[in-house]
Amino acid sequence: MINIKKFTFNPVGVNAYVLWDEVKEAVVIDPACSNRSEEAVLSRFVEEQGLNVVQLLNTHGHFDHLMGNSFAETKWGLKCRIHPGDLPMVSQAKQHAMFFGISMANPAEAVALVPGEEITFGRSVLKFIHVPGHSAGGVAYYSEADHLLVVGDILFEGSVGRTDLPGGNHAQLISGIKEKLMVLADGVRVYPGHGGDTTIGRERRSNPFLQ
Ligand SMILES: [Zn+2]
Repeated sequence: MINIKKFTFNPVGVNAYVLWDEVKEAVVIDPACSNRSEEAVLSRFVEEQGLNVVQLLNTHGHFDHLMGNSFAETKWGLKCRIHPGDLPMVSQAKQHAMFFGISMANPAEAVALVPGEEITFGRSVLKFIHVPGHSAGGVAYYSEADHLLVVGDILFEGSVGRTDLPGGNHAQLISGIKEKLMVLADGVRVYPGHGGDTTIGRERRSNPFLQ
Protein backbone atom coordinates (compact mmCIF):
# COMPACT_ATOMS: atom_id res chain seq x y z
CA MET A 1 0.00 0.00 0.00
CA ILE A 2 1.30 3.42 -0.99
CA ASN A 3 1.96 6.07 1.64
CA ILE A 4 2.07 9.67 0.47
CA LYS A 5 3.65 12.71 2.11
CA LYS A 6 3.17 16.24 0.83
CA PHE A 7 5.56 19.18 1.22
CA THR A 8 4.93 22.69 -0.10
CA PHE A 9 8.11 24.34 -1.37
CA ASN A 10 9.54 27.40 -3.15
CA PRO A 11 8.17 30.94 -3.68
CA VAL A 12 5.37 29.62 -5.92
CA GLY A 13 4.12 27.08 -3.34
CA VAL A 14 4.55 23.84 -5.28
CA ASN A 15 3.44 20.58 -3.67
CA ALA A 16 6.24 18.01 -3.66
CA TYR A 17 5.17 14.42 -2.97
CA VAL A 18 7.05 11.42 -1.63
CA LEU A 19 5.37 8.06 -2.28
CA TRP A 20 6.56 4.78 -0.79
CA ASP A 21 5.28 1.40 0.30
CA GLU A 22 6.17 -1.32 2.83
CA VAL A 23 9.32 -2.23 0.89
CA LYS A 24 10.56 1.33 1.63
CA GLU A 25 11.37 2.12 -1.98
CA ALA A 26 10.19 5.62 -2.86
CA VAL A 27 9.50 7.98 -5.73
CA VAL A 28 9.69 11.76 -5.39
CA ILE A 29 7.31 13.73 -7.61
CA ASP A 30 8.26 17.38 -8.31
CA PRO A 31 10.93 17.73 -5.57
CA ALA A 32 10.50 21.56 -6.01
CA CYS A 33 12.69 22.62 -3.06
CA SER A 34 14.43 25.94 -3.70
CA ASN A 35 16.78 26.56 -0.77
CA ARG A 36 18.93 24.73 1.76
CA SER A 37 16.26 24.53 4.45
CA GLU A 38 13.65 23.06 2.09
CA GLU A 39 16.25 20.62 0.77
CA ALA A 40 17.03 19.60 4.34
CA VAL A 41 13.34 19.07 5.14
CA LEU A 42 12.92 16.77 2.15
CA SER A 43 16.11 14.78 2.58
CA ARG A 44 15.64 14.48 6.36
CA PHE A 45 12.17 13.01 5.85
CA VAL A 46 13.52 10.42 3.39
CA GLU A 47 16.30 9.48 5.79
CA GLU A 48 14.08 9.31 8.87
CA GLN A 49 11.63 7.02 7.10
CA GLY A 50 14.54 4.85 5.90
CA LEU A 51 13.49 5.22 2.26
CA ASN A 52 15.44 4.27 -0.84
CA VAL A 53 14.53 6.74 -3.60
CA VAL A 54 14.38 4.84 -6.91
CA GLN A 55 12.70 7.37 -9.25
CA LEU A 56 12.44 11.15 -9.56
CA LEU A 57 9.39 12.29 -11.53
CA ASN A 58 8.10 15.62 -12.80
CA THR A 59 4.43 16.26 -13.54
CA HIS A 60 5.30 18.90 -16.15
CA GLY A 61 7.96 21.34 -17.27
CA HIS A 62 7.01 24.64 -15.62
CA PHE A 63 9.98 26.11 -13.79
CA ASP A 64 8.36 26.09 -10.36
CA HIS A 65 7.98 22.30 -10.54
CA LEU A 66 11.60 21.89 -11.67
CA MET A 67 13.20 23.93 -8.88
CA GLY A 68 14.28 20.87 -6.86
CA ASN A 69 15.50 18.76 -9.79
CA SER A 70 19.19 19.58 -9.49
CA PHE A 71 19.23 19.02 -5.74
CA ALA A 72 17.34 15.71 -6.04
CA GLU A 73 19.61 14.47 -8.83
CA THR A 74 22.73 15.22 -6.77
CA LYS A 75 21.21 13.82 -3.56
CA TRP A 76 19.85 10.55 -4.92
CA GLY A 77 21.95 10.07 -8.07
CA LEU A 78 18.96 9.83 -10.41
CA LYS A 79 17.81 11.81 -13.44
CA CYS A 80 14.36 13.38 -13.26
CA ARG A 81 11.81 11.90 -15.64
CA ILE A 82 9.37 14.05 -17.61
CA HIS A 83 6.97 13.62 -20.55
CA PRO A 84 8.78 14.18 -23.89
CA GLY A 85 6.34 17.02 -24.69
CA ASP A 86 7.81 19.10 -21.86
CA LEU A 87 11.45 18.05 -22.21
CA PRO A 88 12.43 21.27 -24.09
CA MET A 89 11.13 23.35 -21.15
CA VAL A 90 13.82 22.02 -18.81
CA SER A 91 16.56 24.04 -20.54
CA GLN A 92 14.28 27.12 -20.60
CA ALA A 93 13.42 27.03 -16.89
CA LYS A 94 15.84 29.78 -15.85
CA GLN A 95 14.45 32.17 -18.48
CA HIS A 96 10.87 31.22 -17.65
CA ALA A 97 11.54 31.87 -13.93
CA MET A 98 13.12 35.26 -14.67
CA PHE A 99 9.92 36.28 -16.44
CA PHE A 100 8.19 35.75 -13.07
CA GLY A 101 10.95 37.59 -11.17
CA ILE A 102 12.41 34.42 -9.65
CA SER A 103 16.05 33.41 -10.01
CA MET A 104 17.08 29.79 -10.51
CA ALA A 105 19.70 27.87 -12.48
CA ASN A 106 18.59 25.62 -15.32
CA PRO A 107 18.10 22.13 -13.87
CA ALA A 108 20.18 19.24 -15.14
CA GLU A 109 18.80 17.51 -18.22
CA ALA A 110 15.80 15.28 -17.58
CA VAL A 111 15.06 11.92 -19.21
CA ALA A 112 11.87 11.35 -21.21
CA LEU A 113 9.16 9.02 -19.98
CA VAL A 114 8.41 6.27 -22.49
CA PRO A 115 4.78 5.96 -23.68
CA GLY A 116 3.09 3.07 -21.88
CA GLU A 117 5.89 2.85 -19.31
CA GLU A 118 5.02 1.72 -15.81
CA ILE A 119 6.96 3.26 -12.93
CA THR A 120 7.63 0.67 -10.26
CA PHE A 121 8.84 1.06 -6.69
CA GLY A 122 8.64 -1.64 -4.04
CA ARG A 123 5.43 -3.58 -4.73
CA SER A 124 3.75 -0.52 -6.25
CA VAL A 125 3.12 0.64 -9.79
CA LEU A 126 2.33 4.07 -11.23
CA LYS A 127 1.10 4.67 -14.75
CA PHE A 128 1.25 8.11 -16.27
CA ILE A 129 -1.74 9.68 -18.01
CA HIS A 130 -0.89 12.39 -20.53
CA VAL A 131 -3.28 15.34 -20.32
CA PRO A 132 -1.96 18.27 -22.42
CA GLY A 133 -3.42 21.78 -22.20
CA HIS A 134 -1.77 23.30 -19.12
CA SER A 135 1.52 22.40 -20.80
CA ALA A 136 2.19 20.21 -23.83
CA GLY A 137 3.58 17.34 -21.78
CA GLY A 138 1.59 17.45 -18.54
CA VAL A 139 1.01 14.06 -16.93
CA ALA A 140 -0.86 12.66 -13.95
CA TYR A 141 0.70 9.71 -12.12
CA TYR A 142 -1.94 7.10 -11.29
CA SER A 143 -1.96 4.13 -8.94
CA GLU A 144 -4.89 1.93 -9.87
CA ALA A 145 -4.34 -0.33 -6.85
CA ASP A 146 -4.17 2.50 -4.32
CA HIS A 147 -6.70 4.82 -5.97
CA LEU A 148 -4.45 7.86 -6.05
CA LEU A 149 -3.62 10.39 -8.73
CA VAL A 150 -0.80 12.94 -8.52
CA VAL A 151 -2.06 15.41 -11.05
CA GLY A 152 0.37 18.36 -11.20
CA ASP A 153 -1.33 21.54 -12.46
CA ILE A 154 -3.87 19.75 -14.67
CA LEU A 155 -6.65 19.76 -12.08
CA PHE A 156 -7.15 21.51 -8.73
CA GLU A 157 -9.78 21.41 -6.02
CA GLY A 158 -12.60 23.36 -7.70
CA SER A 159 -10.43 24.55 -10.57
CA VAL A 160 -8.18 23.55 -13.47
CA GLY A 161 -4.72 24.61 -14.62
CA ARG A 162 -4.11 27.96 -16.28
CA THR A 163 -3.80 27.79 -20.05
CA ASP A 164 -2.31 31.20 -20.88
CA LEU A 165 1.32 30.02 -20.85
CA PRO A 166 3.16 28.64 -23.92
CA GLY A 167 1.76 25.24 -24.86
CA GLY A 168 -1.52 25.99 -23.07
CA ASN A 169 -4.90 25.17 -24.64
CA HIS A 170 -8.05 25.39 -22.52
CA ALA A 171 -10.35 23.29 -24.72
CA GLN A 172 -7.70 20.55 -24.95
CA LEU A 173 -7.19 20.61 -21.17
CA ILE A 174 -10.91 20.31 -20.38
CA SER A 175 -11.52 17.51 -22.89
CA GLY A 176 -8.44 15.65 -21.61
CA ILE A 177 -9.59 15.93 -17.98
CA LYS A 178 -13.07 14.73 -18.88
CA GLU A 179 -11.98 11.87 -21.14
CA LYS A 180 -8.94 10.60 -19.23
CA LEU A 181 -9.37 11.56 -15.55
CA MET A 182 -13.11 11.83 -14.92
CA VAL A 183 -13.49 8.23 -16.10
CA LEU A 184 -11.62 7.08 -12.97
CA ALA A 185 -13.53 5.92 -9.88
CA ASP A 186 -15.20 8.45 -7.54
CA GLY A 187 -12.97 7.45 -4.65
CA VAL A 188 -9.65 8.14 -6.40
CA ARG A 189 -7.78 10.67 -4.27
CA VAL A 190 -6.37 13.59 -6.30
CA TYR A 191 -3.12 15.31 -5.23
CA PRO A 192 -2.59 18.57 -7.16
CA GLY A 193 0.58 20.58 -7.70
CA HIS A 194 -0.74 23.48 -5.61
CA GLY A 195 -3.32 23.65 -2.81
CA GLY A 196 -5.25 20.87 -1.09
CA ASP A 197 -6.19 17.38 -2.21
CA THR A 198 -9.60 16.27 -3.44
CA THR A 199 -11.26 13.27 -5.12
CA ILE A 200 -12.37 12.45 -8.65
CA GLY A 201 -16.00 12.14 -7.45
CA ARG A 202 -15.99 15.54 -5.79
CA GLU A 203 -14.51 17.27 -8.85
CA ARG A 204 -16.87 15.46 -11.23
CA ARG A 205 -19.84 16.68 -9.20
CA SER A 206 -18.80 20.21 -8.29
CA ASN A 207 -15.82 21.54 -10.28
CA PRO A 208 -17.33 24.50 -12.20
CA PHE A 209 -14.90 24.04 -15.12
CA LEU A 210 -16.10 20.50 -15.77
CA GLN A 211 -19.88 20.98 -15.82
ZN1 LIG B 1 2.36 24.53 -14.21
